[in-house]
Amino acid sequence: MSQIKTVVVFCGGSTGKKEIFMKEAFAVGKTLAENNIRLIYGAGGQGMMRAVAEGALSEDGYVIGTTIQSLFGIERPDLATKVSKMEIFQTMYERKVSMTKQADAAVVLPGGLGTMDELFELVVLRQLGISKQPIIVLNTDGYYNTLRQWLFEMTGMGFAKPHQLKLIHFVDTVEEIVPALRFQKKLIEQEPQKDA
Ligand code: AMP
Repeated sequence: MSQIKTVVVFCGGSTGKKEIFMKEAFAVGKTLAENNIRLIYGAGGQGMMRAVAEGALSEDGYVIGTTIQSLFGIERPDLATKVSKMEIFQTMYERKVSMTKQADAAVVLPGGLGTMDELFELVVLRQLGISKQPIIVLNTDGYYNTLRQWLFEMTGMGFAKPHQLKLIHFVDTVEEIVPALRFQKKLIEQEPQKDA
């Protein structure tokens, strides 16, 4: 069975309005490092992205920040957070492809539109059988309850199939993330091969 060695974390560039968002983002980074899992993240110099990287670095984790040239020049995330490696791309598209290609799995924390774009791109890749990465969503303080509800409504209205809802695995606590990543990976490996 292949292991989970590298995880991409998608999350908000903002802090969110409740203290628990940043607290859990830090705890996620810490947990990944404690389990010897490398972190790839969007290299935002603030907000949830920064917290997750700081959490991993607090346990001497390996952290890869990925950004684009134009943002790097303005934000200088390398000055905010001393990551292990910084990768700088020309376009957001190239950056996203690299982030997801390097990862064995994805973890999504509370975030905004950028985070949703990243989540749904991965879901579509899984749906088509192009990716085999587990997608774990941390439902901090019920932040994603409405998303879950909407996914059920989508199914009820005939725009998604019930089995597609299983492509996203929701967890309520940080402690559940690593076991869920490993379990989901095992499940996906047992799935029959699909033609993309
Ligand atoms: P949002 O959820 O709208 O705050 O966007 C956060 C997500 O989009 C992150 O997972 C990043 O990969 C990407 N992103 C958005 N803004 C930035 C930024 N300033 N620097 C790097 N990545 C960003």
